[in-house]
Amino acid sequence: MLNHRTTLLLFTALWIVMIGLSFIYTIHSYWFVISMLFFLSIEFYGAYFVDSGFHINTISSVNTNEKVVALTFDDGPVQQRTEKVLDVLDKFNAKATFFCIGNRITGNEILLKKIDEAGHLIGNHSYSHSNLFDLKNTKQMLKDLQSGNEEIKKVIGKAPLFFRPPFGVTTPSLAKACRRLNFDVIGWNIRSLDTTIKNKQKVVERVIKRIKPGSILLFHDTVDGVELVLEDVLIYLKNNNYKVVELDQLIQKKAYA
Ligand SMILES: [Zn+2]
Repeated sequence: MLNHRTTLLLFTALWIVMIGLSFIYTIHSYWFVISMLFFLSIEFYGAYFVDSGFHINTISSVNTNEKVVALTFDDGPVQQRTEKVLDVLDKFNAKATFFCIGNRITGNEILLKKIDEAGHLIGNHSYSHSNLFDLKNTKQMLKDLQSGNEEIKKVIGKAPLFFRPPFGVTTPSLAKACRRLNFDVIGWNIRSLDTTIKNKQKVVERVIKRIKPGSILLFHDTVDGVELVLEDVLIYLKNNNYKVVELDQLIQKKAYA
């Protein structure tokens, strides 16, 4: 499988050979430009597609014939919206994983506790979720991720081992920080696009046509009306004999340290 290290090695070897050959033959500079663009597009693909496993091993689904799926919600906790999601989950007796942003926890401690006490899992989604998150170096990443875990641990007494990268972007620095913290990096194979598609029915259709055994579904508990989408998806799952299981059960990993 192509990853950051092998890509870098392959292209470095290619450029060394090209430079060597350029002493004997005429090699047009556009070949260097083309190979550099090719290299950058692979790097871009690896960074922006969380399930590519390019920088770090990412769990985005599970290989199984059993009709099981796991639900995940990013970017909370948010007053009222997260609660509405909790109510729907409760109605269907379904469990989910909430990837929380560390800086959203102060003031929402009761809500975070409520998520935990209802039997859902809480994962780390960074402390800052900053737009410049991808530019952080390993030390800054470590600090951010550790702060996220501290905020969560202060409230529920447990430190998450499941981490979801903000915007699903992975970089070499993030990979190093995650390895150091023993995090399991969790992606998804069904992105609801609930933050961009305004029509709720379209979101539901998009999700249910992609459902297959072992899927990890991505929603956001920050989106107004996401509980309506969730309700329709849960009805579909029930009618099609799918079981919603907890992420730790689906991927057979420990959720907390
Ligand atoms: Zn996010």
